[in-house]
Amino acid sequence: MHAADQKRLLSDVEAFCQEIREHEELCYVEHRFNHHLVPLAGKFNILGMPVPVEYGGRGADAVTYARAIARIGQEGTGVRTFFSGHTSIGQYPIMTWGSEEQKRRYLPPSCTGEKILAFGLTEPDAGSNPLEMTTTYERQGDKFVLNGVKYLISNAGIASTIVVFAKPKTGGRISAFIIDTDSPGIAREDLLAKMGMPTANTGMFELTNFETPANNLLGPEGDGFRIAMGTLVSGRLSVASGCLGVIEDCLIEALRYAKERQQHGKAIGKHQLVQEHLTAIEMHRLSTDALVYQAAQAKEDSNIDPGNSDKKAKADLLAAQAKLFAAQAAWDAADRAVQVFGGRGWSTLYRPGRHLQDVRVCRIYEGTDEILKLKIAAALLGKEYEAFK
Ligand SMILES: Cc1cc2nc3c(=O)[nH]c(=O)nc-3n(C[C@H](O)[C@H](O)[C@H](O)COP(=O)(O)OP(=O)(O)OC[C@H]3O[C@@H](n4cnc5c(N)ncnc54)[C@H](O)[C@@H]3O)c2cc1C
Repeated sequence: MHAADQKRLLSDVEAFCQEIREHEELCYVEHRFNHHLVPLAGKFNILGMPVPVEYGGRGADAVTYARAIARIGQEGTGVRTFFSGHTSIGQYPIMTWGSEEQKRRYLPPSCTGEKILAFGLTEPDAGSNPLEMTTTYERQGDKFVLNGVKYLISNAGIASTIVVFAKPKTGGRISAFIIDTDSPGIAREDLLAKMGMPTANTGMFELTNFETPANNLLGPEGDGFRIAMGTLVSGRLSVASGCLGVIEDCLIEALRYAKERQQHGKAIGKHQLVQEHLTAIEMHRLSTDALVYQAAQAKEDSNIDPGNSDKKAKADLLAAQAKLFAAQAAWDAADRAVQVFGGRGWSTLYRPGRHLQDVRVCRIYEGTDEILKLKIAAALLGKEYEAFK
């Protein structure tokens, strides 16, 4: 991506962030989905940032996209999660494994907002281990018939297209499919009893004899697990970038409040124990920033040289490391910002409290802390030490 295009994209993201803020704050307090999100993202043409220009996107490289997502992360993990679901794990598998016809059919409308995307891997009884999924598919002539339930899916209730994963009814390896939610045989439900992200859509859906055309198989049959794991590299990078944004916003807010708020006759920023919180948030920002952009550069190097397995492995590991670190750092940064705000920090009328509620999920989705630690340890120790296969 040329420097001028990078600059234009980041300035569009900045304008989007400035416009979305007031809507997001109101929707958050009223605990409802932010309906301004998709139209505003469409207005600033940021619904397909890394999608190649020939398919209607902005052609952003991985580092520029990480910068954009970090900026969006400042506006809240709910806003950022929409982009991760739509782009990092929605458009990404179609861009990477889709046929030319699938790319032409799905990517351009997803860049305008005509189609919203989601990624359906998790099931009620298959989370950390997707191989335990029970959703099945069966080939019937020129179509596949799918049955099963997908649970805790970002954008599920607003998506027109979902990349879903299923096993053959007769047993065997997982395959990936693109499904259109306006077809019969899908029942969707929004999940509303959430700890955070009230402005984002999280849902579940059940497929009952759901038919999708044979040419909606994504990638080769039996390659679904590889596609899912490859997509999670992109997803983890977006979560890590979003967490960086959360830390940046916590720092901005905590610094401002520490100068404004007076107690014991002086600004609270003059109390040394408050300064300790500010220093800790700044150290989280610095270290997360270094790790996120190192991981993003590794992803870009791998994207440019897709046949290079060493670069792929490096990008995979660094995305996991960045996500594990960033999610924990963002959680601690939000907690400290809440502490600096005192009683107001505990209120969702202020940004730190909202960040704290929302960012907790980053230690769970796209690989829990525990799963990522095991992955990192296995990379250090070698394959024979893998805690699970
Ligand atoms: C808001 C939200 C949005 C989401 N969006 C999506 C989405 O868009 N698409 C999608 O497919 N999924 C999505 N998910 C699902 C998410 O990826 C899963 O929740 C996550 O992978 C964990 O699975 P689980 O909830 O079933 O927990 P489990 O796998 O049941 O884990 C429970 C606990 O056991 C631990 N554990 C499990 N196995 C091991 C092990 N071998 N060793 C040590 N500890 C272990 C876990 O770390 C965790 O602490 C979303 C989840 C949430 C909450």
